[in-house]
Amino acid sequence: MVDAAPNMTASPVVMPALPPLPKRLEIELSSACNLRCTYCPRRFLNDISAFMDVDLFCRIIDEVTPHPETILVLHRRGESLLHPRLDECLDYLKGKFQTIQLATNATLLDDAINNRLIEALSFISFSLDAPEAFDRTRKPARYVDVAARVERFLRQNAGRVQTQVSMVKTDKTPESDVARFKAIWQGKVDRVRIYAEHSAGGRFGALEQGRAGRVACAMPFYEMLVFSDGRVGRCNHDWNGAPLGDLNDATIAQIWNSDAYRALRTEHHGLALTDPVCRDCDSWYPIPGHQMTGEIHGE
Ligand code: SF4
Repeated sequence: MVDAAPNMTASPVVMPALPPLPKRLEIELSSACNLRCTYCPRRFLNDISAFMDVDLFCRIIDEVTPHPETILVLHRRGESLLHPRLDECLDYLKGKFQTIQLATNATLLDDAINNRLIEALSFISFSLDAPEAFDRTRKPARYVDVAARVERFLRQNAGRVQTQVSMVKTDKTPESDVARFKAIWQGKVDRVRIYAEHSAGGRFGALEQGRAGRVACAMPFYEMLVFSDGRVGRCNHDWNGAPLGDLNDATIAQIWNSDAYRALRTEHHGLALTDPVCRDCDSWYPIPGHQMTGEIHGE
């Protein structure tokens, strides 16, 4: 048994009723990535370069297809556009869900993939940086090349898929970089997002500036993360935690209603967190889908 973090108090948050399946499902198509971004926690993990098996992907989709309102998110720790059978995955989703989201580093965008993404997605986010910092932080990508690819996507898209650009603000990021980023992209995309850096130094889920006033996290009642190998994690701030289950030998419903998941939710209800991932995380979500950190401009 591990002591709870010292800043925890009884939660004033009323937990949402538990849906029969997660409302939001993050499916990590790829844990491989072609960049080595300076603030990405991937560098603290051992060898996570894998692509999700397409049969497993299809089984996952089959289980949630009766719930077209499920929010599908097709990325996590890697670059999804690297998946060698991405087209098959996108084809399998066709017409089944209202909301399909993807974040990409935009380095692999070209006319053909743009068209596939525009057909398949409802929301896309491009992970960028201010031009002054990009070539240093998003190695080995080049700002001039990647920004041009995003601009080309936006022209092809013509407003069909909702678009976002994001950057990470660290304790060393000058305000002038943030202002420049916003000035470049506001008016071109639907949303500009400035993320607060998390997981600096390998402390997964920890915001660089820390965060006070902890409340229970909504994520264990709302979403499930599936790593590329089928193991199930907690949320987008679970980088390498002990799995809550494995979709290679269980269904989503079985894991969602498992003893492990119930125990995690009970810990969150009482803010008596012993789960190491959640206990040490300060990126918790006070309400489903909204972390209330960083900046969001537009909607
Ligand atoms: S507390 Fe952090 S790691 Fe745990 S479910 Fe919430 S966001 Fe994820």
